[in-house]
Amino acid sequence: MKKLFVKTYGCQMNAYDSAKMADLLAPLGYAQTDAAEGADMVILNTCHIREKAAEKVYSELGRLRTMKAERAKAGGQMLLAVAGCVAQAEGEEIVARQPAVDLVVGPQSYHRLPEMIARAAREHGHVLETDFPALEKFDSLPAPAQSGVSAFLTVQEGCDKFCTFCVVPYTRGSEESRPPQAILREARQLAEKGAREIVLLGQNVNAYDGPSSDNKRWSLAKLCDALAGIEGLHRIRYTTSHPRDMGDDLIAAHGENPKLMPYLHLPVQSGSDAVLEAMNRQHTADDYRRLIDRIRKARPDIALTSDFIVGFPGESDNDFQATLRLIEDIGYATAFSFKYSKRPGTPASTMRKQIADEVKVARLGELQKLLLKQQYGFDDSQIGKVLPVLFEKRARDQNQLMGRTPYLQPVHVHGDVSLLGQMADVRIEKRTANSLHGVLA
Ligand code: SF4
Repeated sequence: MKKLFVKTYGCQMNAYDSAKMADLLAPLGYAQTDAAEGADMVILNTCHIREKAAEKVYSELGRLRTMKAERAKAGGQMLLAVAGCVAQAEGEEIVARQPAVDLVVGPQSYHRLPEMIARAAREHGHVLETDFPALEKFDSLPAPAQSGVSAFLTVQEGCDKFCTFCVVPYTRGSEESRPPQAILREARQLAEKGAREIVLLGQNVNAYDGPSSDNKRWSLAKLCDALAGIEGLHRIRYTTSHPRDMGDDLIAAHGENPKLMPYLHLPVQSGSDAVLEAMNRQHTADDYRRLIDRIRKARPDIALTSDFIVGFPGESDNDFQATLRLIEDIGYATAFSFKYSKRPGTPASTMRKQIADEVKVARLGELQKLLLKQQYGFDDSQIGKVLPVLFEKRARDQNQLMGRTPYLQPVHVHGDVSLLGQMADVRIEKRTANSLHGVLA
């Protein structure tokens, strides 16, 4: 067996892609290992979202080049591949700056990895694939070899929204949806391998518009409806959504589809209309408030989460106060928040009125304090309730199991390992900093 080490940066979509790359390379004799030392192949599956992402990849590659040279001295070989969004964005620049790299493969082309490896061996050179062949890769991927209790399933890729701070439309291409029949097939395979929950992934997952074999288009609500019919599958979730794509049928599905969990990650980024416009989000803060009202009407107990960027270019104190007001109005179960940082090539990176770092730090601190208060409030509101929990794994304390509520909160419970993969009612007794604790009811 040859050893394969995949290092994954970034989002769940990259985690899904990394698992698929490992599945693709298994027939070539590669088995996954958890360290680069001694590996026959190393793949860095990169993310371009964070600041200086490319620089971090180059410094990691420098480290791996030394490892590769030592392995060659000892008579071995280490293939070095860069995959993901940095591969897409940097392309040939990667092999120009780090000649030890053998393969550069974009997020839409990694199904070609086996043939790229053969070409690299044949031609003793670098092989690059950074096309956008519109979801062709999904037809070439093998069936999932294994599955956890909760499994990711990519249904949509790319983005047409061009928010002015974001690189995704440039690295992942335009919005494309996989055919529903292919998704249902993969979901059935995952359920057969033990998945009890499926998390549908897409950069704009609620823009899903799947081309069905009968020439009709399926919405995400229709897809969730069909997935609900799969035996063994108890829960369906989806992420990440855009407020503009929250269709009436998807809102209604939250009230009608019992397997669709009452949890929605719906990023708003800011509560100021001026900032939302500068971000090119194409909705106002009040549009978002009205949307949340409609969602809560369909599913009153839904847990809402969001992303926030503070210190976007031009953000005034008043703009920031408007964001705090929006958070107060909505009431989030949890949320992710970041200081604005420039992404090369995006319009916001060249906007005037960039905000000083100390202002960003102060605003982020204030915003996170409010979000944490809301998170604790939401978690505390579950104490005393009996909730259905899906058990995913053993907790770090080996006598306990870790499962999740319908609202995605982690729960720790004393219980037998036979409960893994099962649902059981749990009485929630207390909250600690990062999780709930309860007893089997
Ligand atoms: S909708 Fe999301 S992925 Fe698309 S540009 Fe905006 S932030 Fe990026």
